[in-house]
Amino acid sequence: MSRIAYVNGRYLPHAGASVHVEDRGYQFADGVYEVCEVKRGALVDERLHVERLQRSLHELRMRMPMSPAALGVVLRETVRRNRVRDGIVYLQVTRGVARRDHAFPAAETLPGLVVTARGLDVARNERQAAEGIAVITVPDNRWDRVDIKTIALLPNVLAKQAAREQGAKEAWFVDAAGLVTEGSSTNAWIVTMDGTVVTRPAERGILRGITRTVLLDVIAAQGLLLDERPFSVEEAHRAREAFVTSASQIVMPVVRIDGQPIGNGHPGTVATSLRQAFHGHAEIS
Ligand code: PMP
Repeated sequence: MSRIAYVNGRYLPHAGASVHVEDRGYQFADGVYEVCEVKRGALVDERLHVERLQRSLHELRMRMPMSPAALGVVLRETVRRNRVRDGIVYLQVTRGVARRDHAFPAAETLPGLVVTARGLDVARNERQAAEGIAVITVPDNRWDRVDIKTIALLPNVLAKQAAREQGAKEAWFVDAAGLVTEGSSTNAWIVTMDGTVVTRPAERGILRGITRTVLLDVIAAQGLLLDERPFSVEEAHRAREAFVTSASQIVMPVVRIDGQPIGNGHPGTVATSLRQAFHGHAEIS
């Protein structure tokens, strides 16, 4: 089946879908994005993703390309045209097309909007969750506004590639104090020996993941202890469990960090039960 991409008002065959060479996303990474899970053809936590999009745009003094309601129509139409049942829908907003100049273009410049959707292999993800993944740690060399979901992802790209080359699935960024910030495309969590779930506060140093936000509700509903505080790599090595969260992986158990097994080296019961309960707490529309 041929894929379709939404590009600035038009649904185009994916293979030939393109933006102008002077799109500021292409020239300067001057844009933001969102990834929303698609489950049985419906969007998972669309409202929270659109709210975060609006925040990212606001922080960069960019405009919404259309209303949240209109955006919802485009997201669903892109999902429908690609016949995605379980997968992800990706959207990217840039500061538009203008002659190359670092400073903002004229105020009337239209923002660019691209939306794509694709299926994910659910059975493969479940097999991976049953096995758990390995992560490596790398120094966090990103700018200090990682709370904004910008398309400027070069440190994340290099970190993920380093993970691949070492046979791992994710890289955890570590700050100058030796504390884990987050993964290259996920939030990072541990479960201590006494069963407390620990994740870094979303004030500074991380993206406030939507999966993270919803998982805090699941944790409360399950009566688990939660401690929102930074944790070190050393503490993670001694943890009973570790896991990562993102819209495309939900809760993914981590069974090795820098080659060292975590807990008994298998996915933990907390991560597994949080994964199972997640969609009962998400808004599916
Ligand atoms: N941190 C980073 C750096 C990410 O790229 C992502 C995924 N976009 C996340 C965390 C997880 O966010 P979410 O749960 O909204 O997918």
